Order: sequence, then structure tokens, then C-alpha cells
Amino acid sequence: VSSLRQGPSPNDPPCTRGHRATTTGFSAAYYSTVSTKYRRNPGRRPSAYLVSKLRRHEALQWRCGPGTPAYRNALEQLKSGESVVSPECRYIVSLPYQGLGNRILAAASAFLYALLTDRVLLIDPSDGMDGLFCEPFPGATWLLPPGFPLQGYTSFTNDTAETYGNMLRNKVIGAGASPPAFAYVYLHSDASADDKSFFWDEGQALLRRVRWLVMRTDNYVVPGLFLADAFRAELDALFPERDAVFHHLGRYLFHPNNHVWGLVARYHDAYLAGAARLVGVQVRVFGAQPNSPELLAQITSCTQKHKLLPEVLATGDPTAAAAAAAASGAKSKLAVLVTSLKPWYQEKLKSMYWEHAASNGEVVVSVHQPSHEEYQRFGVGSHDRKAWAEIYLLSLADELVTTSQSTFGYVAQGLAGVRPWVMYKPDNDHGTAKVPDPPCGQAASMEPCFFAAPNYNLWKKQWLDPSTVVPHVKNCADFPWGGLML
Ligand code: GDP
Repeated sequence: VSSLRQGPSPNDPPCTRGHRATTTGFSAAYYSTVSTKYRRNPGRRPSAYLVSKLRRHEALQWRCGPGTPAYRNALEQLKSGESVVSPECRYIVSLPYQGLGNRILAAASAFLYALLTDRVLLIDPSDGMDGLFCEPFPGATWLLPPGFPLQGYTSFTNDTAETYGNMLRNKVIGAGASPPAFAYVYLHSDASADDKSFFWDEGQALLRRVRWLVMRTDNYVVPGLFLADAFRAELDALFPERDAVFHHLGRYLFHPNNHVWGLVARYHDAYLAGAARLVGVQVRVFGAQPNSPELLAQITSCTQKHKLLPEVLATGDPTAAAAAAAASGAKSKLAVLVTSLKPWYQEKLKSMYWEHAASNGEVVVSVHQPSHEEYQRFGVGSHDRKAWAEIYLLSLADELVTTSQSTFGYVAQGLAGVRPWVMYKPDNDHGTAKVPDPPCGQAASMEPCFFAAPNYNLWKKQWLDPSTVVPHVKNCADFPWGGLML
């Protein structure tokens, strides 16, 4: 978020002095200044109200976060198992999980919930969230310190007795019952209707009385937060541009730490700087999938149809010599950043632009891919750092082509502030698929999709389509059954 606080020189790498544990942190503005050298799209302007809310939230994290008497006191209360009526500081511990895109969306969702409910946000570091980002809040860590007293909190499931849903069903939480010392909030795709009653006012009224919440999700639950009347006016004031919620939250919260910044800056300076235009192509494939000529055809037809990349001349085309001559003096360099677990798509694109002249001879096309990790890995720091660096590099692109239903792509598009061209999923995913026609379409919004949206209001015992409750919350184009977006 720009216009927050002044930091040191824009040429310094991020996090050098802002790294927490010290009391002299810098706000997100500092990191943003550093990245404007790399980021051409300044992005949307945050509302003045959002900026002031962030300032107040930073003060809350500072006043109540780890290392403060308030935090020690709240931990003691949690250990005692007693509840407290109107405590000064309340907390939400976020357990983001799954791939990095999922984890980033989950952390952003928990942060917005923390903003809306005046809770201190603490991110559980056990899933690798501690080695990737700068600390966002000045003078206070957002990481949950070791020694958190809830036994087994990282592995609670929807069966755990203390989930909000189970406590509601068993009447441990509810009108008349004194609030529990903590509650687990389970918002994964297999969450029950009781769990998902979280999204309505009645659920929020109960949870407001609970000092410690531990939230587990792998989803962008933000569109669901618009369902509670209690939040809607505040959300409207914070985000007058509703399609930019993750854009603002993401640019505020997620800045590569020094190590990852090194990956981003070195790659950018070596391969991407100097291009007149940068096109990012995110090819989400899975480890066991064979290379797919159909997917390659989808990428070329999408990018050429929408003039993101030039068409190429056939070998032997009489105009090729003239095009080649023009290319030798060409001024305009177009860089393509491909990200994928597999190298094959990038190799094919690169060969295509080497072996054939671009039909527009004024453009030279260079194609790059930072890594090809082959398989998604879990709990491997270097793998996550590459993934984060690549998401960030994609977010520097002028235009993006993404794979549908991929949170990796969602994070890149939100940080970039662009509506991507989304490659539609083929009808049949088992190898016999034809290239979808059309191959891609531009997303209606840069917002991520909430895949596991609630479709039942437990309080009213009503099945519903949430898009009929809040008209600007819509079904996702790339996940129409059960997905919601702003
Ligand atoms: P999603 O599964 O597409 O929604 O995206 P996630 O980011 O949540 O999970 C995919 C994970 O696989 C990433 O976090 C990486 O660990 C890995 N991965 C997938 N695609 C890429 C890629 O293009 N580059 C790198 N470095 N890793 C990738």
C-alpha cells in the first residue's frame, strides 16, 4: 500500500532493517518503494480509510503482540482454560496450509478477518511461512512464537471437539453458555454446515466473545465475509473498489524477504529488465502429468489470438527473410516469463521463436523460465522460495496468462493488479482432451476465487446461492459450482 510511511532509500534491498525482533520496523510503504523499481504497474490506490485502518491495526499488533505484557497475560488465560469477559486484546492464529498460493490466500483472509474483528493476527510458522516474507507490521512480529500452549493445535481437524462447528452442535458454545477459552475455526472444503455458519451474523456474534481463535483454511474466504451484515458496511468503506481487495491486502502483506528478493532481483536483472513488454505465462501442471501437446497448442493459440505474443511465419515463407532483416534492427524486445513445474512448454515456445520469425518483424521474443521443480514438494524451504520468487516475478508482468483454478496464478494476478487471460480447463482431463475453444478468456476480475463458499445458512435452515444475498459477490467463472468471488 503506497502513501503509508517513508522508509529508507529505494535502492536498498527490502527487509534489511525492517526485519522484526527489533523494535524499529518499517511499514509496507518501504517495501513498496523498493519494488517500484521493478514493478511498472503502480496498482490501485487504497482508500484513505483502509490506510488509517492499517495504521490502527499496526498499533494493535504492537500493543498486544508477542513480547508484550498483554500477550503474556492472554497466554496465561489460554493455559488456564478460563474465558475472559471483554479482554483488551483478542487473537487469531492462522494455520495456512497446502501449496504456497493457497497459504498466501489463507493468510490474507485471516488478516482481513483480524482487521474486521480487531484481533491480533499471528501466523503459525510450522508450514514454512516464516522463511519467505518480510514482517509486515512495524515493531511487532506476525509469527506465532514457539511454545504455543494448545496441544496439537497444528493438526486439528473437523473432528476435533473444540472446532466452532462441533461446539455449536454440542451446545458448548451458544446463547446462554459462557464462552470457551478458545475455538478452532475450520474453513476447509470439507467444513460442515455448522463450521460454515461462521459466515453469518449469528456465528460472528458467538465468536466475538472468544478471545483466542485458531483458523485453518487453504482458501480465500474473503467473499464469504461479505455475507455477514455486521461486516458489510465496513468492507464497503475499506474497499470501495471491490475487485481490489486481495490486490491491496496482498501488496500490503506479502513482500519477499531478503533471500527471496535476491532470487527475484537477480533473475529480473539478468533476463527480464530492458524488455519493452513482459508477458507472464503460468502453466500449472502436476508432477505425474505427461507433457501435453494440447496444452501447448492452447498456450500458443491463447497468446496469439489475443495478441499477447506474435504469430510466427512458416519456414520458407518468402516474407521471412525480410522479417529477419527487420528483426536484426528491431527495437522492441518482448520477454516471456513462463512458470511451470515442467520445462517442456517453455522449451517449445523458445524454439518456436528461435526457429521461426515473428510475423511482426519489429519484435524479438525471448522466453525464460526460472526453475522446473518437476513435483510439488512439501516442507522444503528452497522449493517454497523459488515458488514465491516466481509468483512475484509473474506479478511484475504487464499481461498474464494463467491456468484456471490455480491459487498460484491468483496471487500473481492480484499482486500484479491485472485481469489475466485464463486458460480454460479442457472438458476431459484424462489425456484425450482437445484444445478448448476458445482457448482462454479474460477474467472478469483480478480477485481470487473462494472455492469452498457456503451455500447453506444454518441459522435460517436455508439452502442458498450467496450471490443472491450480496449481488456483487458472484460465482467464479473458472469454478462456477460453489465458487464465489468479488
Ligand atoms: P495451486 O495448487 O495451483 O492452487 O497453487 P499452490 O501454489 O497452492 O500449489 C502449487 C505448488 O506447486 C506451488 O506452491 C509450488 O510448490 C509448486 N508449483 C506449481 N507450479 C509451480 C511453478 O510454476 N513454479 C514453481 N517454482 N513451483 C510451482
